[in-house]
Amino acid sequence: MTIRKIEEILVARPTSDGDGVRLKRVFGGGDLSRFDPFLMMDEFGSEQASDYIGGFPSHPHRGFETITYMLDGHMQHKDHMGNVGELNNGDVQWMTAGSGIIHSEMPQQKEGHMRGFQLWLNLAAKDKMQPASYEDIAAEQIPVFARQGAVIKAIAGQLGDIKGKVQKAVTEPLYLDIEITSEQYQESFAVPEGDTVLVYVYEGEVQVGDDVVGKARLARLGRKGQVRLKGLGAARLLLLTGKPIGEPIVSYGPFVMNTREEIEQALADYRDGRLTA
Ligand code: MN
Repeated sequence: MTIRKIEEILVARPTSDGDGVRLKRVFGGGDLSRFDPFLMMDEFGSEQASDYIGGFPSHPHRGFETITYMLDGHMQHKDHMGNVGELNNGDVQWMTAGSGIIHSEMPQQKEGHMRGFQLWLNLAAKDKMQPASYEDIAAEQIPVFARQGAVIKAIAGQLGDIKGKVQKAVTEPLYLDIEITSEQYQESFAVPEGDTVLVYVYEGEVQVGDDVVGKARLARLGRKGQVRLKGLGAARLLLLTGKPIGEPIVSYGPFVMNTREEIEQALADYRDGRLTA
């Protein structure tokens, strides 16, 4: 049995976005094709209100999906369609920007811990201009799978006995939040050959194949063989897999399209108030 090896380890880097929100960019630079179908992930987490209070005031997106996973705290999303979504501890918002959405993502707390992730997932060319939509998923709707020495929350996808809340065609993303409680945990995931595999460790450390991946590290694995995880003590990690779309990626700020011309069209549409028309 082949075990997937780590091809690259990235260190989450401090940055800021929105109205001065301090966060860590887990991945999202350089040659984006190596993460295909994923585009970017941010981790936000702070006890300091000044790090998050500015939030993300009204801004557009076109051409992809955003998945916001709140571990702790309270954020409110509002969009041009009149949707209002409250995200509290453990909740997920799955937003398909499609042809265009204008929304805000604002903290609803003035103090205390805020922590979570936002993942960007690309859409195939044929799906980029679909109408915008979104789904709020309450924490208690997310299926949980018990293992010896671990608990797995399955936000999306399907693999073996694991069936996540959200199933998506084309990119078929698997999004698991794995909380390891002891070194007894060991599991091999039969991820389809060719799929992209990313492991992000956000607490503790974990063994991935033959290597140890520490906190705030993203491991990008090879495309053949099983994904083997082994507990080394208490840890928390995200396991992300997906089918590469294999199309050109042209990313500019909040727009991700296939060509330069499509980006220029998105900018013009936003400027002229036609992004969400
Ligand atoms: Mn946004």
